[in-house]
Amino acid sequence: MTFSTDAIVLKITKTGESDRLLTLLTRDRGILKAFAKAADRPKNKLHMSTNLFCYGRFTFYEGVKSTKVEECDLNETFFGLQQDITKLALAQYFNELMIESAPVETEANEYLRLLLNSLYFLANDKKNMHILKALFELRLASLIGYMPSLIACAGCGEFETDPMYFNEMTGELYCCNCKGTGAGAYPLEVITAMRHSVFSEFDKMFSLQLSADNIPRFANASEKYLMSVIRRKFRTLDFYKTMINE
Ligand SMILES: [Zn+2]
Repeated sequence: MTFSTDAIVLKITKTGESDRLLTLLTRDRGILKAFAKAADRPKNKLHMSTNLFCYGRFTFYEGVKSTKVEECDLNETFFGLQQDITKLALAQYFNELMIESAPVETEANEYLRLLLNSLYFLANDKKNMHILKALFELRLASLIGYMPSLIACAGCGEFETDPMYFNEMTGELYCCNCKGTGAGAYPLEVITAMRHSVFSEFDKMFSLQLSADNIPRFANASEKYLMSVIRRKFRTLDFYKTMINE
């Protein structure tokens, strides 16, 4: 049986003499593993369209034991990612997060949209990398059902004080009177940026701007919160951090 869907290559494992085992994020079936037979041979028709970050319309053949890529109508390669090792590292972290958290055997349109847009902004230098990473992390946390409670203070319902306190482990927000044990102080601008990340319409999400001083605080809160939700280490995140700290 064959089927077609939009998909992006998240990971490649070489197997056999010249085959590739792909991990893809697909619009109709979420995370999917499929073999691209002989794709490692330069003359093979799948050679150019089954590289990392290749996005397009894929046709698969679903066998009893495994799924194979039949063909791919390539749409985008995010070529800019290959030009900069730091961008590449961040993009691979996005991919690893998707493999960890996107659904399997069910539609994953919102996940695909988040990833494709983030890679586009990253590959084309359209957005500060730290802001982009934090946006991605908070939006992904919301997609997987862990939207942080950013509407108002968990103690008294106050909407805005400056600073506010955010508990990166529980996702709870507090005003400057309630504070809340274990919550870190954040300037209101950071809380506003976090609210924008999770509540804005998707099309407006990437318009977020933040003063330079507050970008690291926003990045810190977002990463800590997502990690507290997912509860595992990401090799790609560690690698990205060695890149930005150099
Ligand atoms: Zn309060």
